[in-house]
Amino acid sequence: MICERCKQQGLKSRVYPDSYGTSTAMLSQVYYDEEGVHHRHDLNTSTRGFYCSQGHRWYVTSGGHCGCGWVGHPTEVKWVDPEPSEPIVAETTEDIYEVEKT
Ligand SMILES: [Zn+2]
Ligand SMILES: [Zn+2]
Repeated sequence: MICERCKQQGLKSRVYPDSYGTSTAMLSQVYYDEEGVHHRHDLNTSTRGFYCSQGHRWYVTSGGHCGCGWVGHPTEVKWVDPEPSEPIVAETTEDIYEVEKT
């Protein structure tokens, strides 16, 4: 597991699994076909969260796949955009006063 955003930016980072993780509870089809080939068609998907030491955060959703080429759910990566790193600067001092007042 490598952080793709760090890879794009030429950064190195450690990747940690997040505590977030879900999986669905659907039935799997497991059988041997007419040729005696084992199939496991798992309809479940699971989502796992990761974050890297550079502050990137993402979720990976993946499903089952089988040796015959069956894919239950294509692997999806969802990035969580980071908080803006630059402080939001008020345009005028009046704005700052308004914020402090409330
Ligand atoms: Zn990263
Ligand atoms: Zn199969």
